[in-house]
Amino acid sequence: MPPGLTFNSLNTQSAKKLFTCQLCGKVLCSKASLKRHVADKHAERQEEFRCVICERIYCSRNSLMTHIYTYHKSKPGDIDIKFL
Ligand SMILES: [Zn+2]
Ligand SMILES: [Zn+2]
Repeated sequence: MPPGLTFNSLNTQSAKKLFTCQLCGKVLCSKASLKRHVADKHAERQEEFRCVICERIYCSRNSLMTHIYTYHKSKPGDIDIKFL
């Protein structure tokens, strides 16, 4: 250990590092648990909704449907028949 450096935490039993979720404040004991917690509880499923005509990507089915209807003047149900 270089001179001048003190590692007080090495001597304390309570030096165990805790990981707090920034989103809900839950405390987890390892980085891996925190990661899993965030993925489980807070990750929004980023499903992609891709327009089959122009390949624009929307994050919700509703936006995609609106896009198809307004941009391509097509009812979503008609696409497969019209554009294949
Ligand atoms: Zn959380
Ligand atoms: Zn489109």
